[in-house]
Amino acid sequence: MHPNTKAIRTQVNKTGEMEHSVPLFLTSSFCFDNAEEMRAAFADESDDNIYSRFSNPNVQEFIDKMVALEGAEAGYATSSGMSAVFGSFMALLKSGDHLLSCRALFGSTHNIVKKYLSRYGIEYSYVDASANIEEWKKNIKPNTRMIYVESPTNPGLEILDIKALADLAHKHNVILNVDNCFATPFGQLPISLGADLVVHSATKWLDGQGRVLGGVIVGKKELIKEIYLFCRNTGPALSPFNAWILSKSLETLDVRMERHASNAKWIVEQLQDHKKISSVKYPFLSSHPQFEIAKKQMSNGGGLFCFELKGGLEAGKKFLDNLKMLSMTANLGDTRSIASHPTSTTHAKLTEEERQAVAITPGLIRISVGLEHREDILKDITQALENI
Ligand SMILES: *Cc1c(COP(=O)(O)O)cnc(C)c1O
Repeated sequence: MHPNTKAIRTQVNKTGEMEHSVPLFLTSSFCFDNAEEMRAAFADESDDNIYSRFSNPNVQEFIDKMVALEGAEAGYATSSGMSAVFGSFMALLKSGDHLLSCRALFGSTHNIVKKYLSRYGIEYSYVDASANIEEWKKNIKPNTRMIYVESPTNPGLEILDIKALADLAHKHNVILNVDNCFATPFGQLPISLGADLVVHSATKWLDGQGRVLGGVIVGKKELIKEIYLFCRNTGPALSPFNAWILSKSLETLDVRMERHASNAKWIVEQLQDHKKISSVKYPFLSSHPQFEIAKKQMSNGGGLFCFELKGGLEAGKKFLDNLKMLSMTANLGDTRSIASHPTSTTHAKLTEEERQAVAITPGLIRISVGLEHREDILKDITQALENI
């Protein structure tokens, strides 16, 4: 079966009611018929559910679909994208290890790397997302255990060559861990390019309707086993309710991403020469600095694009104030289009230099393109630009 069919048809076993759509298993624990079955479950001799911090049918269904979509061996789902990222670090890194990461990272991931890993004796170094593979190679140390990247990056939409990074990682016996949140498995398949692990914030495109938080890690069986044991003991389990929502969401991810991406590409083309904009960035625009890599590893350009306003910081805030339909909210990957101005919000605490290093300029606006009619989205952006 095609992965998309699996995402639609994978379902936990039907109950005696013979329901068509999966029911909600809101239960903290599971019963056993006899002491021997219970012993076997605790001894890992059976797959029986024990307790919803370890496993739950709704959560397992969501994991199975993500494993199918990403072409992975195994997976574990978590309460948020951040617990997926954190779990993948803490389960696999130990004191004395070195993490090599791209500099442009989701804000909370940057905080984990910079502020918390050092408390556990884990070192890190950053490499610019736009750097070539030689630069990455130079930064590998004898104690490097993991390479961690996002591609496209947030919010600068820089593209990293996942295949080249995987080859480098494996030459040095290092794990390649890729945050595939922005592209989704319908935009790129990091495991097919050689990645060992893929993490997701399911909160974004996977849910796609701005309802629940969730996260998931998929990849090599032996690595997932470590992550599962770490998470089972430390407790970032995904709620069965959120898993139920997310599992149903995956049944429409393909059609949603197709529309998000085609809306984004069309809007970007209309905006390219706008007089209030100095540049537009979208992975599938030939003017994108890493367009060749994007074409090679992505099947569509995704639902996010950025543009740089000629008027800088003040123009950025004015643009947001002028919007009539697009939402001003700290999220992305929704049916509703969202605009954000990183310099005055998510990245305001960075210095000008730090922002420059991760491709955030004062007038940068990031748009998460929704499923509204593309002309309505464009109309709102255009009128907000005209009135700056
Ligand atoms: C949102 C996001 C995260 C964190 O996910 P949460 O579900 O908010 O915890 C991690 N990485 C990227 C790229 C994100 O956009």
